Amino acid sequence: MPNNYYQPEAETMPVAEIKKLQEYKLIRQVRRTYENVPYYRNLMDQKGVKPEDIRTLEDIAKLPFLSKDDLREAYPYGLLGTDLSKCVRIQSTSGTTGKRVVAFYTQNDVDMWEDCVARAIVAAGGTKGDVCQIAYGYGLFTGGSGLHGGSHKVGCLTLPMSSGNTERQIQFMMDLNATILCCTPSYAAYIGESLAERGYKPEDNKLKAGIFGAEPWTEEMRRDIEKNLGIKAYDIYGLTESSGPGVAFECHEQNGMHINEDHFYAEIIDPDTGEVLPEGSKGELVFTSLDKEAFPLIRYRTRDICVLTREKCSCGRTFIKMTKPMGRSDDMMIIRGVNVFPSQIEAVLLKEGYAPNYQIEVDRVNNSDTLDVYVEMTSDSFSDTVKEITKKEKKLALAMRTMIGISPAVHLVPAKTIARSEGKAVRVIDKRKRLGINI
Ligand code: ADP
Ligand code: ZN
Repeated sequence: MPNNYYQPEAETMPVAEIKKLQEYKLIRQVRRTYENVPYYRNLMDQKGVKPEDIRTLEDIAKLPFLSKDDLREAYPYGLLGTDLSKCVRIQSTSGTTGKRVVAFYTQNDVDMWEDCVARAIVAAGGTKGDVCQIAYGYGLFTGGSGLHGGSHKVGCLTLPMSSGNTERQIQFMMDLNATILCCTPSYAAYIGESLAERGYKPEDNKLKAGIFGAEPWTEEMRRDIEKNLGIKAYDIYGLTESSGPGVAFECHEQNGMHINEDHFYAEIIDPDTGEVLPEGSKGELVFTSLDKEAFPLIRYRTRDICVLTREKCSCGRTFIKMTKPMGRSDDMMIIRGVNVFPSQIEAVLLKEGYAPNYQIEVDRVNNSDTLDVYVEMTSDSFSDTVKEITKKEKKLALAMRTMIGISPAVHLVPAKTIARSEGKAVRVIDKRKRLGINI
């Protein structure tokens, strides 16, 4: 089992010391932000809180939240925490849930971000001897440049492929003996499928690990990818607003992601009331970036739903862990009054032996919500009769009903008819939006 650290002094710091460090940095960050960011100063003034009121970590609950709407309102320069001349980089969100927002970085911010990613690569077993294939998109999206910077810091031989052109990905992976693959989990699944189609077996490649993130994926999907590529697959989490991938990462336990707590303070809140919830509760993840200079977000609401726990981890890291976000609060579909996440449907599909190629369509017909799930047939269904296919569809629909509480209409479609993703997969088409329904 790999059990190395990139920055052991931080990663294994005793919890009491982490808290002391966070407190010191929080007080500093609040003061700095109040002075330099009029937008946030206004929010604090409106709430009647001054920097002097923040003396302990718990005092953070007195501070106002920042939301994606604030970022859109303040776009592009309204949340800058430093002089623009000190900034060296701009990145942007993928715009998965609306208008893109931009984030700024000083050189210190880039260094901190790349250190966080380097920790993730080392936790996945990465060393100077590795060939790290980066198949996240490069450009404004943080996936490519984030993993690229981290790979350089570790000293891996970095293969900056960007996403797409799967033929070339496979050729370079095989010719240059890539040992670590970094991309979205949906693209990893697609690469696995493409390798098999070309007659490669999992043991034919030299890959040992994958670092996959930027979108939700289930444990079932992890096992599928691990089997098809012959690797260990590690989760990595992050968001552009608080730098990019690497805010949290998995160790060899593959059981929750350690949050880089020396740089980020995490809270879980009730998404409806904003109340801070105790450790172990499920709720919305809120981050405060303790070190960021150019884009110092305080109490930023991620809309990602997860649980935080600080249990002793066999890897020796002391950082708190977050569970895989099961989806964003805005990924959640409300169908006939029931809350449904695409990840629940994905879990059923993989458990029933299907590949993670699916699309969910929600609509409203005669004032009632409809849920259709399109799933590709497995190769053994190829010669099935219509009767047999209908039977399989019914079986799947029943398994989904048990999981989500409502009955979907399941449609088995021929293999390769659902579009593959090279970046973040689009799983849901909500046609109710055309009716002006606010979902
Ligand atoms: P956008 O919000 O436009 O997609 P980003 O590209 O910055 O912008 O994506 C950040 C979001 O991606 C996170 O808030 C989270 O919802 C999702 N995400 C990132 N990593 C993971 C992961 N490992 N598991 C689940 N969701 C993730
Ligand atoms: Zn660990």
